[in-house]
Amino acid sequence: MKIHEYQAKEIFRQYRIPVPKGGVAFSPQEARKVAEELGAEKFAVKAQIHAGGRGKGAMKEDPSTRGVALVATPAQAEAAAAAMLGKTLVTKQTGEAGRLVQKVLVEEATEIDRELYAGMAIDRASELPVVIASAEGGMSIEELAKEKPEAIIRMPVDPVAGLYAFRARALALELGFKAKQINKAAGIFMALARLFLAADASLAEINPLVVTKSGEIAALDAKINFDDNALFRHKDYAGLRDIAEEDPLEAKAKEAGISYVSLDGNIGCMVNGAGLAMATNDILAVFGGKPANFLDVGGGASAGQVEEAFKIILGDPRVRAIWVNIYGGIARCDIIAEGVITAAGKIGLSVPLVVRLMGTNAEAGRKMIEESALEVAAAATMAEGARKAIEAAGIS
Ligand code: GDP
Ligand code: MN
Repeated sequence: MKIHEYQAKEIFRQYRIPVPKGGVAFSPQEARKVAEELGAEKFAVKAQIHAGGRGKGAMKEDPSTRGVALVATPAQAEAAAAAMLGKTLVTKQTGEAGRLVQKVLVEEATEIDRELYAGMAIDRASELPVVIASAEGGMSIEELAKEKPEAIIRMPVDPVAGLYAFRARALALELGFKAKQINKAAGIFMALARLFLAADASLAEINPLVVTKSGEIAALDAKINFDDNALFRHKDYAGLRDIAEEDPLEAKAKEAGISYVSLDGNIGCMVNGAGLAMATNDILAVFGGKPANFLDVGGGASAGQVEEAFKIILGDPRVRAIWVNIYGGIARCDIIAEGVITAAGKIGLSVPLVVRLMGTNAEAGRKMIEESALEVAAAATMAEGARKAIEAAGIS
């Protein structure tokens, strides 16, 4: 789960990571009010979307409006908010479609002396949480990793003990913090590590972490991604979810208890079990096809879930064929067949359907589908299913 910058900064405050004073606004008037209450000399107005790159990104409706604006008065903050709210922000991370801006963060602006990068993630290779830091902040860490990998420092963190103070200080020193700033910077790295571990985050990032003209250190941007599989033990964070920012089909699937990830191909896949779902996507790729999604209806899929899965797959306008690939282990093929037949009858199938049923009650399931009014291509093997689905989608 992703959250907004203003929400992540609230969590930073709880961990005593210094962030600029500010508040969220849903309308230009509110933005003005927040600015008036801050009473600063300069303000930063920042579009709140679940994607980065806002500083360089621009509104689709007006490319001269960026996702971050620096202004001098509350009236200008109101105008900057009006130029962002209700507009579509396109950044490197949003793709061409962009994201609708529905709220802005209004902050006291900071006079920047230096921009650095600090983040935490899980390093799969060492199987440990890792602090990632660089004296060259501001630009995207992905680009920096490609162009100047030597400028990135990685430091593994003990998942139980956290980031040791002496290591945090060594990191601060290596990043070029002055003697007087070392303890403050180290404290921020340790707090970030504490937050990351306690929140079961998959990513916690400060980009940029800045040194201000007056020598203070502050987090000017904040990003926290939570591990969905651990959200059940963070009821306080679950409320930070913003469904408006999520893929509507993925949100619908989550509600129905279906694992669904939207991909960019045109063959809709309905599969049970994550392993088989991945194998299905792989074999489509092997034969030159492209899956429109990863969809796992779950081990003990009910007819109702199959129906939901169909609705989700057909909700994607790019889908030109559907491949139902089920292995009946705990799930029974006859129940899946029943779900397919009722769902197809109710929703009305607008694209060709390929079905492969194997395992428990497969014979019965196949017979039910054959005897139904559905126009279905049956497949006995993975390869046959992939070939037929690709042919049905009109690519070969
Ligand atoms: P992102 O582009 O989505 O990552 O948004 P950021 O919050 O990182 O802002 C982008 C850039 O805007 C930062 O790297 C800063 O250079 C600049 N910026 C953001 N807030 C301020 C501020 O208060 N003062 C100044 N001078 N620059 C800021
Ligand atoms: Mn940033």
